[in-house]
Amino acid sequence: MRDYDAIIIGGGINGLTTAAYLAKAGLSVGVFEARGQCGAHCDTVELGMPGYLHNTHAVWLVPAMSPAMEDLGLEQLGLHLRGTDVLFAKTFSSGTNVVQALDPAVTDASLAAASEHDAAVQATIAGYLGEHLEETLDMSRSLLYGPPTAASLDRLAAFDEGLLSRLGLPLSGDDVLRMTGLELLDMLFESEEVRTTPAALGEFTGQWPNNRRFGALALSLSGLQPMAVHTARGGSHAMTHALVKCVAAHGGEIWTTRRWTASWSRTAGPRASASAPTRSRRARRSVPGW
Ligand SMILES: Cc1cc2nc3c(=O)[nH]c(=O)nc-3n(C[C@H](O)[C@H](O)[C@H](O)COP(=O)(O)OP(=O)(O)OC[C@H]3O[C@@H](n4cnc5c(N)ncnc54)[C@H](O)[C@@H]3O)c2cc1C
Repeated sequence: MRDYDAIIIGGGINGLTTAAYLAKAGLSVGVFEARGQCGAHCDTVELGMPGYLHNTHAVWLVPAMSPAMEDLGLEQLGLHLRGTDVLFAKTFSSGTNVVQALDPAVTDASLAAASEHDAAVQATIAGYLGEHLEETLDMSRSLLYGPPTAASLDRLAAFDEGLLSRLGLPLSGDDVLRMTGLELLDMLFESEEVRTTPAALGEFTGQWPNNRRFGALALSLSGLQPMAVHTARGGSHAMTHALVKCVAAHGGEIWTTRRWTASWSRTAGPRASASAPTRSRRARRSVPGW
């Protein structure tokens, strides 16, 4: 083993992304992973019946919003994302359902079945986010992929203030920043069915709506169209595959409990092997265009 400019402990998607950026910047990089393969919480494996693949953890991938998708050329490295017509749905014993669908008319109709008032509120929020799409995306990126700063929170508060005034709500952007998601949803919507949909979406994605300071998030989830959420063709591990290829293509090396080779397994991705001295070169050959 040689000396590296940078070593990364852990070959999950975050370690791999860091390694890929550093390797692309020209540093010599070694990734050290304790398991036999990279991926961890972004794995797709055969759990039960042979041939049936399961995403064990991460399912919805949002790299379309991440600069890494373009910076690291992940699509060219085999990461193909697929959207669905319906991002999220909740069904109720009353026989209604509330969905967030790609087609706003479908979302609106499902909300209107629960409450005309709430459908109008949601349409106003979605309309506002749509009118300010570039700013919405830019703000999301800076909040998701950068450290929180006073300036980014001020920007969010100002953005929300415009939306609140459009909604006719007597709140400031700062008020919303201090609220829990549930408090805000109570103010926005009259129907329990409509309220619980963005709340559940937040819950499922680890953005717990009962936490203070989640009001602003609940506001944006209420108007969210599902364009940014995808699954990967072949399972979540496709993201790991693409990142591993990217690290290797830029000359980085990945070590697992055994030495890593670029022999791809459909289910498990890159496998370790005791007899593969030139991991990066093998990976490079397997990546079209590199
Ligand atoms: C149930 C569940 C569902 C999820 N659903 C989604 C989802 O739908 N969408 C989404 O975007 N995210 C989802 N996530 C979150 C996402 O999976 C993780 O944020 C992401 O995969 C974490 O990547 P990571 O590289 O930070 O960590 P990990 O994937 O945990 O990787 C860390 C790696 O470091 C290795 N390691 C640790 N210590 C050492 C050491 N000392 N030496 C060597 N190696 C070490 C581990 O073996 C592991 O491989 C979900 C998570 C869970 C648990």
